[in-house]
Amino acid sequence: MYGDYRKYAQDILKGIEERGVLKYEREIISRQGREIETSGGRKLLNFCSNNYLGFSGRGDIAKGAAESLERWGFGLSSVRFICGTQSIHKLLERKIADFTGTEDAILFAACFDANGGVFEPLFDENDAIISDELNHASIIDGIRLCKAKRMRYSHLDMTDLEAKLNEAASSRFRIICTDGVFSMDGDLAPLDKICVLAEKYKALVMVDDSHATGYIGKTGRGTAEYFGVTGKIDIITTTFGKALGGASGGCICGRKEIVQMLRQKSRPYLFSNTLPPVIAGGVLTALSILEKSGSSLISDIREKSGYFRKGMKKSGFDIRDGETAIIPVMFYDEKPASAAAQKLYDKGFYVIPFTYPVVPAGKARIRVQITAEHSIEDIEQLIRAFSEVKLKM
Ligand SMILES: *Cc1c(COP(=O)(O)O)cnc(C)c1O
Repeated sequence: MYGDYRKYAQDILKGIEERGVLKYEREIISRQGREIETSGGRKLLNFCSNNYLGFSGRGDIAKGAAESLERWGFGLSSVRFICGTQSIHKLLERKIADFTGTEDAILFAACFDANGGVFEPLFDENDAIISDELNHASIIDGIRLCKAKRMRYSHLDMTDLEAKLNEAASSRFRIICTDGVFSMDGDLAPLDKICVLAEKYKALVMVDDSHATGYIGKTGRGTAEYFGVTGKIDIITTTFGKALGGASGGCICGRKEIVQMLRQKSRPYLFSNTLPPVIAGGVLTALSILEKSGSSLISDIREKSGYFRKGMKKSGFDIRDGETAIIPVMFYDEKPASAAAQKLYDKGFYVIPFTYPVVPAGKARIRVQITAEHSIEDIEQLIRAFSEVKLKM
C-alpha cells in the first residue's frame, strides 16, 4: 500500500519545490545570537531570529537555567495536577502575571498549546469568537476546536470589527482575539481602540503577545503597556520561546477565574507534561535581567529598528512604517525573494524569505529582525548588502 502513498507524497513535495517555496533547515553549530556559525563552518550575521533582547545565547541566562536544572532536576514525568507542580512553576506563574499586569497565569508547554487550549474550555455554541483575519495559525486552530460561532474581521479594520460585534450581539458572550504584534508584517493591533469597542459591545479581549512580550512597551510588558491598556485585557497568551530567552514554553495570563477554569479544563494543560524546571529557571532569570535593565534595552531595539527602516527606504526598498523590530522587505514575487535571500546568505547575512503559504501568495518578502545585540555597523552592512543584491537582480 505504501507505494501509492509514496508516489502521492513525492508529487506533493516536487510541487512545493517547483513553486520555489521549499523550506530548508540550515544547521547551526554555535549558540543563537548576533553571529552564528553554520555546519559548513561559515560565520553569518543573523537577522532572522525572534531573539529581540539578545537573551537566547547569553551566559547569564544559561547559568540561571543551569542552577534551576541542578536544584529541581531535569523533568517531572507528570502533568501539573498529578505530581508536576514545583515551587519554581508557581513562582514563574506569579512573576509572569505581575509582569503582564494580570491577576494570574498558567503555564503551557508552548504558546501553540496555550492558544489550542484557551477557547474550548471557556466558550461554547452560545458564544462568538471574533478574530483578526491574520491571526497566528495557533489561534486559528484553537478556535477550530471550540464550538463557538466563528467570525473574522479584516486585518486591523476597526469598522469591520464593529460590524462583526453588532452581528454577534445576540450571542451570550463575545470575545475579540488578536495578535499583539503580527509576525509577518510587524504591525501592532490597536488595543486602545479594540478596548473601547469591547466596552461598548460588552466583549472580552484576548491578545497573543508572543512577538511583543519582553520588548514592546516602555518596559517590555507588551502591547497592553504600549497602548496604555494594562489591566483591561482579559486574556493574554504569550511564549517564552522568543524574547524571554527563546527556549520554549508559553502561558496564559489574565483574570483570576479564567485562569482557574483553564486549570480545570484546558486539555493541553491537563494532558501534557509540565514545563521542564530548567526552562522556568531560565525565564525567571530573563525576567529579572530585563527588569534590572530598566527600559534601556528596549529603547535600544527601537532605535536600531528605526535606523534600519530609514536606511532601507533611502536605498529604495519597499518598507512599511512601523514600531517593532520585525521589518519585512517586500518583493511580492516568490522567486526573487528566495533568490535575494540566497545572495545575502552568500554575502554572510542570514535572512529568510517568507513565501506562500506562510504569507499570502504574491506577498513574498524577506523578513528582517533586529535585536539588541546588533550594532549600528551590522545594520549598515546589511543595508549595503541589500542594495548590492538589488543592483544585480
Ligand atoms: C511564535 C508564536 C506562537 C507559538 O509560540 P510557541 O511557544 O513557539 O508555540 C504563537 N502565537 C504567536 C503570535 C507567535 O508568534
